[in-house]
Amino acid sequence: MTRPSTGGRIEVICGCMYSGKTEELIRRMRQVMIARQPCRIFTPRLDTRYSVGHVASHTGAKLEAVPVSSIKEVMAGVGDMQVIALDEMHFLEDSADEILACCQELADRGLRVIVAGLDQSYRAEPFPGMMQLMAVAEQVDKLYAICVRCGAYATRSQRLINGRPAPADAPTIVVGGLDLYEARCRNCYEPAH
Ligand code: ADP
Ligand code: ZN
Repeated sequence: MTRPSTGGRIEVICGCMYSGKTEELIRRMRQVMIARQPCRIFTPRLDTRYSVGHVASHTGAKLEAVPVSSIKEVMAGVGDMQVIALDEMHFLEDSADEILACCQELADRGLRVIVAGLDQSYRAEPFPGMMQLMAVAEQVDKLYAICVRCGAYATRSQRLINGRPAPADAPTIVVGGLDLYEARCRNCYEPAH
């Protein structure tokens, strides 16, 4: 039986922490599952905030996901899926070029590739992997949280250590929730020194 094609495409869901990226990924994948399209969700092993084997949003919505450490593991797990989703892309250990090449290959093969992740680090610097994917994606959605200081739309993830902005030389990737990160707007964001 030949399956109807979903059309190869790359969709990027980006934004700061708490902007609803995982919620949006789960919403899209629920639709795909209702339509009975063969699909699989992948999530970096590093993201240990929630039980392994799931993607989970801060609101508690969750779906089963395959834990991976690298984009090669995603490639190995694609099988004959029509749609794949990758959450928290910024946690993958691969270079931006490798991630780009693999996502392009999958979309060229006809897969719908949905990638969610932070667009900026806590230093408000773009994540190279997301930058490159956004350039080639068929669809890019940038989501916003609400700034916890002033109520404006938040685009940045403020990393705090003992209530103070984390220094610029702190590690880029630290897994954590509300105690470590706050959503802030451009005005309320305090740069790392
Ligand atoms: P992301 O994947 O972008 O980190 P999630 O989808 O996991 O976001 O969670 C989004 C949810 O986080 C929102 O629906 C809301 O319930 C919650 N939330 C917590 N803090 C904030 C905030 N400052 N602004 C907006 N939503 C927030
Ligand atoms: Zn603000």
